[in-house]
Amino acid sequence: MTVIDRNAPVMVTGATGYVAGSLMEELLKQGHTIHAPVRQPDSTEKLKYLNALAEQHPGTIKYFKADLLDEGSYAQAMEGCQLVYHTASPFTVEVTDPQKELVDPALKGTRNVLEQANKTESVKRVVLTSSVAAIYGDNADLVNAKGPKFSEQDWNTSSSLEHQPYSYSKTVAEQEAWKIAKSQSRWDLVVINPSFVIGPGINPHATSESFHLIQQLGDGTMKTGIPKWPIGIVDVRDVASAHVNAGYTPDAQGRHIVSGYDSSFSDMAKILVAKYGKTYPLPKIILPKWMVWLFGPIINSSMTRKMISLNVNLPYQSDNSKGKEKLGLQYRPLESSVIEFFEQAINSGLIKKR
Ligand code: NAP
Repeated sequence: MTVIDRNAPVMVTGATGYVAGSLMEELLKQGHTIHAPVRQPDSTEKLKYLNALAEQHPGTIKYFKADLLDEGSYAQAMEGCQLVYHTASPFTVEVTDPQKELVDPALKGTRNVLEQANKTESVKRVVLTSSVAAIYGDNADLVNAKGPKFSEQDWNTSSSLEHQPYSYSKTVAEQEAWKIAKSQSRWDLVVINPSFVIGPGINPHATSESFHLIQQLGDGTMKTGIPKWPIGIVDVRDVASAHVNAGYTPDAQGRHIVSGYDSSFSDMAKILVAKYGKTYPLPKIILPKWMVWLFGPIINSSMTRKMISLNVNLPYQSDNSKGKEKLGLQYRPLESSVIEFFEQAINSGLIKKR
């Protein structure tokens, strides 16, 4: 049982990111004092969405300078905090050096933040933003899952630096977090494993991969068709609630799959076509797997034939019952998340009419 004093400051790494933005909003609404270690604490441009939120809500934000790769740089921000949210980690699939661009910040960053928790007497709980990518690598892995669906019992064993490196980075980072947490007893670790996050963010120009996907759906990139690529989908505001509840529920423990729906990118497209099909060049056809296999890697260099073989047309199913039961999570309807996300992309100029 870990009781966090709601009046103590709470630290959030990666506050400038898409997922953390909604968490920051929720914490500010609840009146928390947030310590936000960021790479550019003096950039008013970068921090303008967070600052606007802080003006609207009762909570406050104090910025500190830190970098995942800079050992000891989280010390000042963590001082006096009982609760630490570690969300910072790059989410991108277009990389040239996966070790440097993904694995190093994910793994060394987790080590840096959690070793700082070991040195900071006030810390009682760390909530880590992992991913379902640390639970499974490809849809084909479902046949090897411990139950009929992917669950918190499963670990991704199929990703590597060469194949699905982002998923690999999340897996090794979460494994490192558990190793460090188990080597001490002052603080406990609670892990959130979200599936693909969508929905309007506090920053309409975020660079997260989630925004690239909604852009590609709407800007004509996929107008000739879309593969049936089953995935889990969750709204960013539901992921924020999961983080808040993971922090302040005394008996929260272990990993939590946070995923509203077993769905697919083509299901997202279908929802959008019904409403915007006449005004935006959305994909209307589901492409046969052989065609995706043949042309996918030519059109999109981050998509390999191995990825296509192991994911397209293969089912994705995950068990989200632990999050509902233990963290009281409720998921908003998929349709409204998809539509509100698309609307934000239109309003911010990310997607234009044909
Ligand atoms: P994002 O918008 O790109 O946010 C990434 C955050 O990490 C940014 O705040 C970024 O700071 C920070 N960061 C990156 N490298 C850093 C470094 N070297 N030092 C300090 N900070 C650094 O991506 P996101 O989608 O919100 O992802 C946030 C977390 O959610 C990640 O852990 C990701 O794995 C996880 N997640 C995301 C999804 C999803 O679908 N979006 C799903 C499951 C899990 P700057 O602003 O300075 O770049």
